[in-house]
Amino acid sequence: MATCGKSVSENIPDYEYIDVNTKTFDIGAFRNLWLERLKPSHYSYKEKEDEEFETELSKEFGLNAETVNDLKSICSLDSLRCNPVDRPTDTNVVPPDSTLRTLIQRKRRQDYKSNLTVQKVGRHDLYADELERLTFGRNPTEGNEIPEGEVIISVNVYYPTIFERFKYIRPHMTLLMTGSHTLANLRDAICCVSDLQVCGEFSNTPDIAPDFISKDHYRSSFFYLEGVFYNDMRFPECQDISSTTIDWAKSHNFPSYEKAKMEDTKFIDLKIKVGFPYLYCHQGDCEHLVIITDVRLSHKTDCLDKKLYPLLTHKHRVTTRRCTVCHLYIGRWLTSNDRYAPCDPCLFCDKCFRLLHYDDQGNKLGDFLAYPYVDPGAFN
Ligand SMILES: [Zn+2]
Ligand SMILES: [Zn+2]
Repeated sequence: MATCGKSVSENIPDYEYIDVNTKTFDIGAFRNLWLERLKPSHYSYKEKEDEEFETELSKEFGLNAETVNDLKSICSLDSLRCNPVDRPTDTNVVPPDSTLRTLIQRKRRQDYKSNLTVQKVGRHDLYADELERLTFGRNPTEGNEIPEGEVIISVNVYYPTIFERFKYIRPHMTLLMTGSHTLANLRDAICCVSDLQVCGEFSNTPDIAPDFISKDHYRSSFFYLEGVFYNDMRFPECQDISSTTIDWAKSHNFPSYEKAKMEDTKFIDLKIKVGFPYLYCHQGDCEHLVIITDVRLSHKTDCLDKKLYPLLTHKHRVTTRRCTVCHLYIGRWLTSNDRYAPCDPCLFCDKCFRLLHYDDQGNKLGDFLAYPYVDPGAFN
């Protein structure tokens, strides 16, 4: 990048704290630098023809045709067989004397698992690649392909800090965004129980409770990145909830903050630090850390269907709280002051709740209070 000069070199990610986060850089300018430096064939989705690849290889390493052919047969997939051609490969059997590090690791893991007294597959192991499998090899329909040279941004979204238990653990979800997505697209892709919470007591009218989810009533939210509040102002009900903080900072001689609209801000226009914790705040006080972990060009092995983005690649699973009565279904109602309940408050699934508290005509039986409950594990 010798010819690029100082102003451009600021757009190459450089560590601010080693292994923690980079200094600020412009995603769009970073992408342009890559595109200038790479040949179109480097980021093209087209498979290279065998012949074309061989000519390039022999040119690059100065090899003659015979050596290239030898290399081809040595490196071919057929030479990787662990057993004779006529026997089908069992991918679960690891050869005992393998020198490959990956296989040694795998053997160790297999031996460890076979020694365990309790055989239990963790939920995280079970679903580890589920989301990746869903998108692998999906061919986009005509016109829905991610353009070549598009930038892909990995975003980790953490549990809200109000969940004491989940404060320090792995991200709740990992999303892949493209450079042309706006911050509003990211906001819509984040699913959080706070958005689905129903506020109020509904023991007299349990049927209308689902019409009152918080997402439809309290639509304001913002992202805070690099000194700028990006507010969601798409709907008439939206308020600029960042103004309180901005005014407070002004009156206390803090550096001034700017604001913008999240629906008008594309990722490609952002200046960010990779690895740095940013903030997403919605429903008043539901605050999530958001960390951008990677910015790169799209590749032919990526999911290339534009319609599947923002692409969810990881989701943390939590245990669900079940109904106190049947222990079978996920809890939907919390009751209080309830003489039918074994405890106070008590969690019921929809079925048990209605069977116990209402007669055939749907009339309320007795005096109790009922609050809709959304389980964090309902998203599993
Ligand atoms: Zn939230
Ligand atoms: Zn139940």
